[in-house]
Amino acid sequence: MAWVNAQLIDGKAVAARVRAEVKAEVDRLKYEHGLTPGLAVVRVGEDPASKVYVNGKKKAAEEVGFRSWELHPDEGISQAALLEVIHQLNADPAVHGILVQLPLPKHIDPDVIISAVKPEKDVDGFHPLNAGNLLLGRSTTRACTPYGVMRLLEEIGCDPAGKRAVVVGRSNIVGKPMALMLLQKNATVTICHSKSDLRREVEGADILVVAVGGAELVKGAWIKPGAVVIDVGMNRKPDGKLVGDVEFAAAAERASFITPVPGGVGPMTIAMLMRNTLDAAVRYGLVPVVR
Ligand code: NDP
Repeated sequence: MAWVNAQLIDGKAVAARVRAEVKAEVDRLKYEHGLTPGLAVVRVGEDPASKVYVNGKKKAAEEVGFRSWELHPDEGISQAALLEVIHQLNADPAVHGILVQLPLPKHIDPDVIISAVKPEKDVDGFHPLNAGNLLLGRSTTRACTPYGVMRLLEEIGCDPAGKRAVVVGRSNIVGKPMALMLLQKNATVTICHSKSDLRREVEGADILVVAVGGAELVKGAWIKPGAVVIDVGMNRKPDGKLVGDVEFAAAAERASFITPVPGGVGPMTIAMLMRNTLDAAVRYGLVPVVR
């Protein structure tokens, strides 16, 4: 079946809807329980991209009615001192969610820092306990970007059950959790990486999620007609233009649905962070009354 042109998946609009849902629940929590969800973001040093991301997160947190804090130690902070910052946030009852913006300076081991965040306050879903629970198919805090992709699939009425899903990229923050979430929804999942025969795998995908960080690496001609294409990649070209990991125009001629870059997956990551923080506040900020 030939597709004239794919329908665009408007991540900006869906993300706005998620934030509005979160805001409505925050209003209710404040009114009924006097509880305001709190999100603390830790940004170490002066990485310019991190500054942009953290500003976006702070803005969204304010918009949905959270209390939010940015802790901004300088580049030279020791690992031990950063751990102390995390311990203090873990102990603070006003803080329901803690996010440590990556990357961290080279002398700090991100695994040590991520593991130090209390799992119930890990709103990124990166703590080994949360990542492990996802692997076991248990209910848990989910990594924001793949969680956002699942919401986009839901919004376009794409049920992964029985479909061939191909995830390109196997990072702990996108590719692996993405594959597990699709598996949980009963897709038949293939994970690709730098040693895969990429074209062969992509050609069989009903649902294709690409998270590599290689500008237009996946060619439009490889896309199976009618496939749903989700492009997580964000790459700055020398002319300043932001492009994804998929050759967009050519892919859009074959796909049924496709995410644009920017305006596809990007806004969903922050929206799902708001969702995760709200859920953390509800789970751990409220004492269950049912016995
Ligand atoms: P990583 O660099 O951690 O992982 C990249 C993955 O791509 C690796 O598994 C690597 O394989 C694989 N890869 C590299 N080259 C190829 C190739 N030629 N063929 C197949 N696979 C390949 O990246 P992230 O997962 O952190 O991010 C991926 C992209 O998504 C980036 O562009 C990033 O900016 C973007 N991103 C966007 C977000 C958003 O909110 N929209 C959030 C997070 C990331 P191997 O393991 O073999 O090295």
